[in-house]
Order: sequence, then C-alpha cells, then structure tokens
Amino acid sequence: MACAFCAIIEGTSPASIIYRDEIVIAFMTIHPSSPGECTVIPIAHVDHFTDVEDGTAERIMRVAQRIGRRMREVFQPQRVGMVVHGYGVACLALLTAPS
Ligand SMILES: [Zn+2]
Repeated sequence: MACAFCAIIEGTSPASIIYRDEIVIAFMTIHPSSPGECTVIPIAHVDHFTDVEDGTAERIMRVAQRIGRRMREVFQPQRVGMVVHGYGVACLALLTAPS
C-alpha cells in the first residue's frame, strides 16, 4: 500500500530525516505547531497502530525519547509531548514541544 509516509521512506517524497535505522524513521513535520515537531514511524507500513509489533513499538518509544531529550536541550521548552495518532496517514508518534 502506498501512502505519504511510505513515499518518504522510499525517498520519492522529500523530508528532513533526522533519524533512520532498520525499524523506524523520524523526520521533521512539514507544518509544525511548535519548533522541533517531528514524526517517528515504522519503516514497514502499518495501517493501524494496534497492529504494530511489540519490538517496533518499543523502538518507536526509545527513538522518540532520544529525540525528545535533544529537543529539550535545543529548544528548552517547559515540556516535550508525544502523541500516538493515526486518523489520516498511519502516523504513530508525533513529538511536539509546546512553547
Ligand atoms: Zn505507508
């Protein structure tokens, strides 16, 4: 199944990729609500977050935490938050730091 995130993973759609390994990829959000907002998704397309394998879900959380720690250093927000969402594109972790 082709989706906007698969196009980023395949390199056919541009993105500011900040992290990638064999399981997950993270990239900056196109229209961020706060500085540093980014998205962490699995490399393998998953339609519903409830179908993500345990190991992949753990990797998403660990990568999101690592990026969130760096966001705290760089942007020094009061908080960094993470949202699991999948209403439009199958998105798993949206990291944001409200200013
Ligand atoms: Zn996809």
